[in-house]
Amino acid sequence: MDLEALDREFVLPTYARNYTNFTHGIGSTLYDDKGRDYIDFASGIGVNSVGHANKNLVEAICRQAGRIIHISNLQVIEPQAKLAEKIVKLSGYDMRVFFGNSGAEANEGAIKIARKYGETRFDNKRYKVITLEHSFHGRTITTVKATGQDSFHPSHFSPYPDGFSFERSIADLYNAIDDETVAVMIELVQGEGGVQPFEKEEIRQLANFLKTKEILLIVDEVQTGVYRTGEFLASNLYEIEPDIITLAKGLGGGVPIGAVLTTHKDIFAPGDHGSTFGGNYLSTVAGLSVLETLEELYESGRLHETLLYFDAKLLEIVDKYGVLFGKEVGLGLMRGLRAHNADIVVEAYKRAIQEGIVLLKAGRNTIRFLPSLTITKDEIDEGFRRFEKVLASIV
Ligand SMILES: *Cc1c(COP(=O)(O)O)cnc(C)c1O
Repeated sequence: MDLEALDREFVLPTYARNYTNFTHGIGSTLYDDKGRDYIDFASGIGVNSVGHANKNLVEAICRQAGRIIHISNLQVIEPQAKLAEKIVKLSGYDMRVFFGNSGAEANEGAIKIARKYGETRFDNKRYKVITLEHSFHGRTITTVKATGQDSFHPSHFSPYPDGFSFERSIADLYNAIDDETVAVMIELVQGEGGVQPFEKEEIRQLANFLKTKEILLIVDEVQTGVYRTGEFLASNLYEIEPDIITLAKGLGGGVPIGAVLTTHKDIFAPGDHGSTFGGNYLSTVAGLSVLETLEELYESGRLHETLLYFDAKLLEIVDKYGVLFGKEVGLGLMRGLRAHNADIVVEAYKRAIQEGIVLLKAGRNTIRFLPSLTITKDEIDEGFRRFEKVLASIV
């Protein structure tokens, strides 16, 4: 049976899959089973933060795999403690960390922290979590309910947990808050929703307001975190102090890991929360290696150079192909091109793979770019050369 037939026969069809069979990659170049090469502007979905086959990451994983991959969380795990310390130091916030295995799980942790805070801090139980339209917070039954898109809550998965609602804009949040509201959960740049950053001033005002009301601000940095927007956290870039932050995608360089950070350092007691796999040797060693590489990239100024270079390329495209795109959007290396209609996105996305470039879509009419943070200028040049071929074929 060929690979496509095998996949279709045995894997539940939850994805609209492309059947190019990638066999290996190096940096931001992927190779398929026919020997063709592709420039990777997607890095999974913002996961391969240090590219493919990164030497330090591969060595760290292999070395650790030969020693201990996993023991239970009932034992102390040295790289877990060190990764928690590293994340806290890089964040600049006074927080503690819990490790899980994914973004959704990190957000579940965030919601559990908020719910316990809501019960222990106030006379009446505060439990409501308000999110925003076009947000994305995960696929578990709770985080899918927290996701502010009705299409994600069809009746066939009902009933959903109580206490979640979403508002159309930041301005609308203020009116939606009542005396049972425990937290507001937002992305600073909505990723899946269309690579949409919020205004810094608007976010800072909201953060200040929530502090005065003792309502928690949960920032879902599953996509924006780990230097994606140019700073370690988008929260750093926005100069806010959230109560809870979640991370996942870029943190393990492809090894599954999620993290929830909070200033409520004593909110949980033993038994309140847990995970079998979360924070094990393999994933936290990978996280340490990724952060070492990315911290160096940031400190040397090379990350900043890369994002300026990428930005200039996007501006050039908008300039040249105004018939297709209205503007470039996003922050850092979390970027998009807003197309005039959805057909342009569908067509470009389809032809990109044929021209040897891996792209993403977001929202209804946005082509999304989430390249590895270690992508080189040569790879960017080659990627955009191919992308222009795609565009030239559809104008
Ligand atoms: C991807 C994503 C998630 C879900 O992460 P999973 O690892 O797929 O569970 C949650 N929030 C945001 C903002 C994301 O981009």
